[in-house]
Amino acid sequence: MLATLLVLGRLVGAQHAAPLQEPIVIRAATVIDGHGGIRHNVDIVVRGGRIAGIVPRGPLAPGTRVIDLGDRSVLPGLIDAHAHPVWYFNRQNRLHTSSDGDTPAQSMLAAAANAYATLLAGFTTIQSVGSRSDADLRDWIATQGLPGPRILTSLDPITDPRIPPDSLRALVRQRKAQGADLIKLFASASIREGGQQTMSDSQLVAVCGEAKALGLRTLVHAHSAAAVRAAALAGCTQVEHGIFVTQDVLSLLASRGTYFDPQCALVFQNYLGHRASYLGIGNYTDSGFAAMERALPLVAQDIRMALATPGLKVVYGTDAVAGADGHNAEDLVCRVQKAGEAPMHAIQAATSLNAEAMGLANQIGAIAPGLDADIIAVDGDPLADITALRRVSFVMKAGRVVRDDGVMR
Ligand SMILES: [Zn+2]
Repeated sequence: MLATLLVLGRLVGAQHAAPLQEPIVIRAATVIDGHGGIRHNVDIVVRGGRIAGIVPRGPLAPGTRVIDLGDRSVLPGLIDAHAHPVWYFNRQNRLHTSSDGDTPAQSMLAAAANAYATLLAGFTTIQSVGSRSDADLRDWIATQGLPGPRILTSLDPITDPRIPPDSLRALVRQRKAQGADLIKLFASASIREGGQQTMSDSQLVAVCGEAKALGLRTLVHAHSAAAVRAAALAGCTQVEHGIFVTQDVLSLLASRGTYFDPQCALVFQNYLGHRASYLGIGNYTDSGFAAMERALPLVAQDIRMALATPGLKVVYGTDAVAGADGHNAEDLVCRVQKAGEAPMHAIQAATSLNAEAMGLANQIGAIAPGLDADIIAVDGDPLADITALRRVSFVMKAGRVVRDDGVMR
C-alpha cells in the first residue's frame, strides 16, 4: 500500500511536466475502442501525450517502456457530461453553503479532492454545469499540475426566469467573456419543486440563439415535457434530466438533433443515501425528498423509452453532486441493469458520443490514432459484467499514468 502511494505520488507530481516524447507501449489483451469496436492482443503506442498507433502485439525495440495491462479490459477515458465538482460535504458532514464558515481556500481544496476522486475512477473529462469557481479548478488542472479530469464548465448557470430576453443575451455574452466553455440554463424548476417550465419560449430562444451565434453550446435543465419541448424548439444543444418526458418530446429531440442527458440512479441514490447531509438546506426539504422518491421509479423507464426512440442521441451525464464524486460509473451500471441498454452502447455514450456532443471528437472519446492518450483499464470484462467499470485499476490522462494498482483480486 505504501509503495503504491509512493508511486502514485511520484507520478502525480510529475504530471505538470511536458509530455514525454519517447514512446510508451501499452500492452492490451482487450481494447474496447469507444466506437463500438473490440481489438485483442494489441500494443497501443503513446507518444507526446497522444495515441500514435494501435498495432498487433509484436517484438519491441530494446529500451521501449512497456506497461503490460495483462488480462484487464482497456477503454478510452470515460466522460461525464454533467457533474458538480465544487459541491462538497464540509467537515461537519453537511452540504457546503456560502454561510458555513469554510474559507474559499478550503472550498477549493475540497473541489480539488473531488476532481482527483473523479479522475481515479477513470473519468478523464467532465463537464461542470456549473459554478464560477470551476474556472480556476479547470485551469489549474489544465496547466498548473493539479491532478484531475479535463474540465469544461458553464461557470454560473442562467436560472432567473424574470430576466428579459435582451438581458439574457447580454448575460450569455458575459459568460463567454468570463471564459465559459458552454452555457447552462434552467428551463424548468427543480424536481424537488415539481419540475414545471419556468423560462418562456422567447427567453429560451434568446439564450440558446445568442449562445449559438457565439459558438457556445447550451445545456438546458428541463423536467416537464413542455420545458423539454420548448428547449428543443429554441435550438438548444442538449437537454438535461427530463424526468417527465413523453414519447412525442423524445421524438422531437431526435428530429431536432438535440442531445438528451437523462440520469439513471446515482444522483437520486446519492441524495437519499446522504439525506442527513442535505436536509434543511435550500429545497432539500422533506417534501423535496418525497418528490425525488416519487421520481426514482420513472427514470429507468424514461431511459428505456429514450433508447428506443429512433435517432435520439442519449449521452452520458450523472449529475454527480456532493457525495457522488468517484462513483460516476454508477449510471452506466444502472443503464445496463435497469434500463436494458447494451453494455457496448452505454460505453459509447460515455466515450465517443459524449466527445461528439462536447465538440471534442477529434481530441478524446476513443482509442484511436491522433487522439489524446486518455486510457483506462478495468478488472474484468464490462461487456459481460458492466460492474467491471467500478473496478478501474489503471488511468492514463494525456499520456501520463495517474493510477496503476495492478490487478485487484
Ligand atoms: Zn446538475
